[in-house]
Amino acid sequence: MKTDCSRTNAAKSVGLKPVGAIWLILILGVLWTGMGGCANKSYPDPPLTIVENSVPKTVQVAAEGGWVPCPGECLKLAKPGWQQREIQGFSPEDYWMPYPYTDKGGESWQAFSQRHIGHIIRSYPDKAAQDVGICPICKGTGWVRKDDPNAKK
Ligand SMILES: [Zn+2]
Repeated sequence: MKTDCSRTNAAKSVGLKPVGAIWLILILGVLWTGMGGCANKSYPDPPLTIVENSVPKTVQVAAEGGWVPCPGECLKLAKPGWQQREIQGFSPEDYWMPYPYTDKGGESWQAFSQRHIGHIIRSYPDKAAQDVGICPICKGTGWVRKDDPNAKK
């Protein structure tokens, strides 16, 4: 109790300065907590589409956020071969991964957009490729954290 009283008196005797110092400590505390949270808990989301029309750039941006391509067999942005195409009924911003095949009608291809990232695509030589569902490793994102036990070392 005696210590508390003397502190209160000291603060009063030097006017507003201690109040300013307390605010500064509070602000620094908030900043520090925010930075700590950023480093330990949250991280930027990985890219959802091709960045700057470049697969290597996309992988680089993901890596800067702590992500690596999913080691599973899913469709991912790290896979070479993405093409931006205008396909009727779809956004011209969409990127497409073509899977060629040959059937009775001749050579053709089935393409999947970046909306199928993290899905497992089964391709066949003689029929159209199929999306058979979400990858169990990356849960449909195409990326895993670099410290994930599944990530390739
Ligand atoms: Zn995956």
